[in-house]
Amino acid sequence: MDGAGMDRDLSTMLSDAAGGHRISQKDALRLFTKYDRDVWKITAAADEKREKIAGDAVTYVRNQNINVTNLCVNACGFCGFSKKPGDEGIYFHDEAVIREKARLAKSRGVSEICTVSGLHPAFTAQSYFDVYRWISEEAPGVHLHASNPMEVAYAAQKSQMTTKEVLSQMKAAGLNSMCGTAAEILVDPVREKICPQKIPSVEWVRIIREAHHLGVPTTATIMYGHCESDEDRVRHLALLREIQDETLGFTEFVPLSFIHMNTPIFRNGLARAGATGREDILMVAVARLFLDNFRNIQVSWVKEGIKMAQLGLLAGANDLGGTMFEESISKGAGATNTDYLDPKEMQRVAEDLGRTLCRRTTLYKKA
Ligand code: SF4
Repeated sequence: MDGAGMDRDLSTMLSDAAGGHRISQKDALRLFTKYDRDVWKITAAADEKREKIAGDAVTYVRNQNINVTNLCVNACGFCGFSKKPGDEGIYFHDEAVIREKARLAKSRGVSEICTVSGLHPAFTAQSYFDVYRWISEEAPGVHLHASNPMEVAYAAQKSQMTTKEVLSQMKAAGLNSMCGTAAEILVDPVREKICPQKIPSVEWVRIIREAHHLGVPTTATIMYGHCESDEDRVRHLALLREIQDETLGFTEFVPLSFIHMNTPIFRNGLARAGATGREDILMVAVARLFLDNFRNIQVSWVKEGIKMAQLGLLAGANDLGGTMFEESISKGAGATNTDYLDPKEMQRVAEDLGRTLCRRTTLYKKA
């Protein structure tokens, strides 16, 4: 096909997508692979679609992370956070410390507390229920966004329960919504390379569906920029879109750019040095155009820094995530600027785009 023909194809596809037409997996693949120099046209269409679906507000949530332990039985190749017995810098917070952290979060006026941790060898399902109960008791009224499908599967296996029972009891202990992390790339040959001990895709999908059916909404994520192909990215997005069609249980989609510096897969030559800037904004844009049943696309300032996050807001994203008073997962992998982002800085980047910053709850109500 000549250049002009290719241009027309792209323009038609983009105006269809911006106008609300569902694009196919084949189209999404073409956006990832065929139009390297047309990234600005693609982001402009995604921005138009963002305006129609989510309006002009740039949202954020005031939140705090509580990471319980960095000791983990798994050894995912992209993880610079987890420790093994005997390593330096291991921590494992007990009940008193977790309660204190939850009280501190409450006193800072956060509306959300997140917990994600390593899979501690001594954890059982009860360990998770206890942590959620301690936090809920110390921070009543604060939304608890915790766990992920890997943690649910681990708790179930350790306590000979079904994942559905674990989720129900987590909910009873105070869990309000679950993290859609541990998804990485939902294509098993890729998972076998980067996180062979993690649950397979089909189990991640099953646990997410169970959570949604139990009334526990979740986020949806992708971790890209390591050794996955464009086809793998599209397959992953297609799975998320299919689940959302069925359950409407995803609150948002969060692309997570691979932070390579301190990770085994990068050191061993199994992964490249992360996505480029073009790829980062293209991921946001393709997600906005392809995931037509997601209202919210979040850019992670923790992974990408505030400057790239601002470009993401021009490429289809409408949310900047959380203020994050405590963050150590990305820091472990070598990311900088991960500690806390003042809403004043978020406001500065939003206003620079002619948009307004609005504080939200975890479930995207006005806070
Ligand atoms: S990504 Fe999670 S499960 Fe994998 S090693 Fe790191 S802490 Fe453990």
